[in-house]
Amino acid sequence: MELNIFNTGTKFTEAKELVKEVYLMDERPWVVGFSGGKDSTAVVQLVFQALQELEASQLHKKVYVISSDTQVETPLIIDKITRTLGRIQKKALELGLPFETQKVRPKVDQTFWSSIIGKGYPTPRQKFRWCTDRLKIEPANRFILDKVDQFGEVIMLLGVRDSESATRAAVMQSHTIEGKKLMRHSTLRNAFVFAPIRVFDVDDVWEFLLQYDSPWGDDNNELLELYQSSNSECPLIVDKEVKESAGSCGNSRFGCWTCTVVSEDKALSGFINNGIDWLRPLYDFRSFLVQIREDHSKRQKQRMNGEVYLLPYNDEPEEGQVIITKAEIKQYLDSNNINLATVEDLNILVEEEDGSLKRFGVGPFTLKAREEILRQLLRTQKQVRELYDPNVELITVEELKAIRKYWHDDLQWEDRLPLIVEEETGETYDWNHNDRPVFKEDQLTDLETLCQEEGVNLSVLKQLISVEKDYSGVKVRRGLFQAFDKTLKQDFLHL
Ligand code: SF4
Repeated sequence: MELNIFNTGTKFTEAKELVKEVYLMDERPWVVGFSGGKDSTAVVQLVFQALQELEASQLHKKVYVISSDTQVETPLIIDKITRTLGRIQKKALELGLPFETQKVRPKVDQTFWSSIIGKGYPTPRQKFRWCTDRLKIEPANRFILDKVDQFGEVIMLLGVRDSESATRAAVMQSHTIEGKKLMRHSTLRNAFVFAPIRVFDVDDVWEFLLQYDSPWGDDNNELLELYQSSNSECPLIVDKEVKESAGSCGNSRFGCWTCTVVSEDKALSGFINNGIDWLRPLYDFRSFLVQIREDHSKRQKQRMNGEVYLLPYNDEPEEGQVIITKAEIKQYLDSNNINLATVEDLNILVEEEDGSLKRFGVGPFTLKAREEILRQLLRTQKQVRELYDPNVELITVEELKAIRKYWHDDLQWEDRLPLIVEEETGETYDWNHNDRPVFKEDQLTDLETLCQEEGVNLSVLKQLISVEKDYSGVKVRRGLFQAFDKTLKQDFLHL
């Protein structure tokens, strides 16, 4: 029997009443960050239930539910999120609730692969965690700023809770506007934060999710199962300071499958232990990403901005290592024709005036290492396609194009990327075509949901649209139908 939480005077009742009160307070639209984890599910469910109790005339403003698709999400989790967003949207339409769901993605030149394989960023670690900003915060902020442009101000709803950590509670307290239910956003002007489950502890969240049915028909017990081996999640954190207090977000099944911030993978190993074997190539590839970062021969001996830096060297010099002074560095490099962006083994130590030794610090991956990572990724994709689904796309054509441009900018004029892709996949693309995006992000989310509902292959559909785009504006479109034909005759469609 379903309990009526709303008459019980519990924390849940108060939270729901608060949601209604804040919703009715003004005209500012809401943006809810939904990661698929327990806290954000609880927030969306709470808001959904609260709005169901309002009169139609009171539903005066939009509630955007946004999810981050970093494009390196664990495949099973992102499928679940896509399904849930579709269900929320459908149920809301049925009930006349003003919800609008959307996935937000990093710009193509900012994705995980464009950053690592294109620009050579070292795979993220706790001390250099560039990924959360690029993959999650910036795409969400872009969405929010777009709404700020449209509506003047917005309110963001986060599933953060005081009991998560003392630091986080302190950060939230410092942002709270006195006497108000809202907090100021730490970086975005005209954006405010509302944390409706702020006072919940972890047991409250589970109690709420397990005792009361999901309004859009999900099974929250499944969610609990996902937490079997870990209790953390990678929330769609849209506040930088809250992010800093959150620590790593990769230590869970909700992080990126590529996460190298955590020492032990949780995103994939749990699924593999449960018998989902096709994820194993991804697991191995992640280990490769951790290991290649530590191999100094794969890294440039200068920073991205060209800066060279030295680090203390505390071992005994090895045989063959040359010891020079700082003043001799340039001359040595020039006379030996050494390019710090490409050299692998730099057997030089630098002696300081006090006699101490230094070695060269490392920067981004060399172009050769980036090629190696790309090849390895394409091989992994091939394995997963063979083991599981011929449509799996670990890296998109758009990303390959962005990477090609980065390589070109990094003076790789041999244009090796098309060749590597062809060698590893047997596929060729029209590399020269105009790369402007065809769809806006919200249109893409709709298209994805539609394809999932109708059982249409999204990747083929995207290829067809891209063919059409290639021919748009061209007067003689003779080749168009041949190109369509070729796309539709791809082997995997007919296996
Ligand atoms: S899950 Fe890991 S790789 Fe992904 S954004 Fe979080 S810290 Fe970065």
